[in-house]
Amino acid sequence: MSADVFVIGGGPAGLAAAIAARQRGFDVLLADGAIPPIDKACGEGVMPDSVAAARALGLDLAQAGHAFRGIEFVGPGTAVHADFPQGNGLGVRRTALHRIMLERAESLGVRFAWGTQMTSLDGIRARWIVGADGSQSRVRRWAGLDACVRDSRRYGFRRHFRVAPWSEYMQIHWGGDCQMYVTPVGPEEVCAVLISRDPHLRLEDAMPQFPELRARLCKAVSVTPERGGVTASRRLKAVYRGNVALVGDASGSVDAITGEGLCLLFRHAVALADALEAGDLASYAAEHRRIGRRPEFMADLMLMMDGRERLRSRMLRAMAARPSLFAGMLAMHVGELSAFDFFRNGLAFGWQLLNS
Ligand SMILES: Cc1cc2nc3c(=O)[nH]c(=O)nc-3n(C[C@H](O)[C@H](O)[C@H](O)COP(=O)(O)OP(=O)(O)OC[C@H]3O[C@@H](n4cnc5c(N)ncnc54)[C@H](O)[C@@H]3O)c2cc1C
Repeated sequence: MSADVFVIGGGPAGLAAAIAARQRGFDVLLADGAIPPIDKACGEGVMPDSVAAARALGLDLAQAGHAFRGIEFVGPGTAVHADFPQGNGLGVRRTALHRIMLERAESLGVRFAWGTQMTSLDGIRARWIVGADGSQSRVRRWAGLDACVRDSRRYGFRRHFRVAPWSEYMQIHWGGDCQMYVTPVGPEEVCAVLISRDPHLRLEDAMPQFPELRARLCKAVSVTPERGGVTASRRLKAVYRGNVALVGDASGSVDAITGEGLCLLFRHAVALADALEAGDLASYAAEHRRIGRRPEFMADLMLMMDGRERLRSRMLRAMAARPSLFAGMLAMHVGELSAFDFFRNGLAFGWQLLNS
C-alpha cells in the first residue's frame, strides 16, 4: 500500500488518473475491488471532445469504436439531426474501453491491486491519494467531501441488441417522462439505454412510449442482460482535502444524457496530474470547476425537455424547422462554438420557438 500516488478505483477515471500521473513520472499503485474486465451500465457514446481528451492520455479509442457522425433527437412525429462540426463520435463497448485503458496503464508501468476493496484510508502510505471510486464514492465520505452544491439523480438501464445500426447518428428518443438513447457500437450491434427518474421503470415497460424504436428492437436479439446504474447531476463543494483528491464520478457528474461523463474524467485526470506535479491541489479544484461548466450548462438545457411535454414538442418542432439551430447547440455541446455565437444561436432559437 505504498506509492507516490495511490488510486482507489480502477474504472475509467482511476485508470485515466493513473495514466496521467505515470506520464509525469510518479510511481502509481491502483486498487479496485473488482477484477477486469470491468463492465458498467453506460450509454457507450464517446463524443468527439471525449475522443480528443482520450488522445491526450495516449488512448486510441478508434481501434475498438464504431463511428457515428452526430446526434439525432427523435420525438413523436418529429426528428432533427446534426453532424458534429469536427470529427466523429465513437460507440465503444465498456469492456473494450476498459481493456484499452488497462493496456495503456500497464505499458506505462502502473502497478495494480485488483480484487482489493478498500475499507478506509488507514494504512495507505502515499504522498497523494486519488478517489476514483465512482458515483457512490466512499473515499469522498472518508475524506469529508460529501457536501454538495447540487445533487439530483436519475436511473439508467442498458442492454445491447444484435442488429445493424439503422442510423449514422447517436439517437435520443424523447418519451413522456423518460428518454431512450441508442448508440451504434458495432457493425451488428447497438447499445440502448433508458433514463428516467423512476428507479422501477425498465426498458420493456418504457417501450410503448417509443413505437418506432420498439418496431426495430423487437426483432433484434438482446445479447446482454439489463444492467442498471444511477446517473447523478452532482456538484461538490470541494474536490480535495489534504492529500486526497477526487476524480471522475466520485468528484461530481453530469446527467448521462449529455454523453460527457468520459470527457470530464479524461480532463480531470490531466488537470490532476498537472496539479500533483506542481504540488498544488487548489489549482486542480479551479480547473475541475472550469471543466465542468459547459457540460453542466448543456445538461440543464437538455433536461428542460424532460417531463415537459408541451415545451418539448415546441422545442423539437422549432429545431426541426431550422436544423441549423440544432447544429449550433451540438457545436456548443462538444466545445466547438464560442459563448458569443452560442448566445446568438440561443436568441435565434428563442425567436423560432415563439413562432413555432
Ligand atoms: C446509464 C448511464 C449511461 C451513461 N452513458 C454515458 C455515455 O454514453 N457517455 C459517457 O461519456 N458517459 C456516460 N455515462 C457516464 C459514465 O459511465 C461515467 O461518467 C463513468 O463510468 C465514471 O467512471 P468512474 O471511473 O468515475 O466510475 P466507475 O466506472 O463507477 O468506476 C468506479 C470503480 O471504483 C471501484 N470501487 C468502488 N469502491 C471501491 C472501493 N472501496 N475500493 C476499491 N475499488 C472501489 C469499482 O469497482 C469501479 O471499478 C453514463 C452513465 C450511466 C449511469
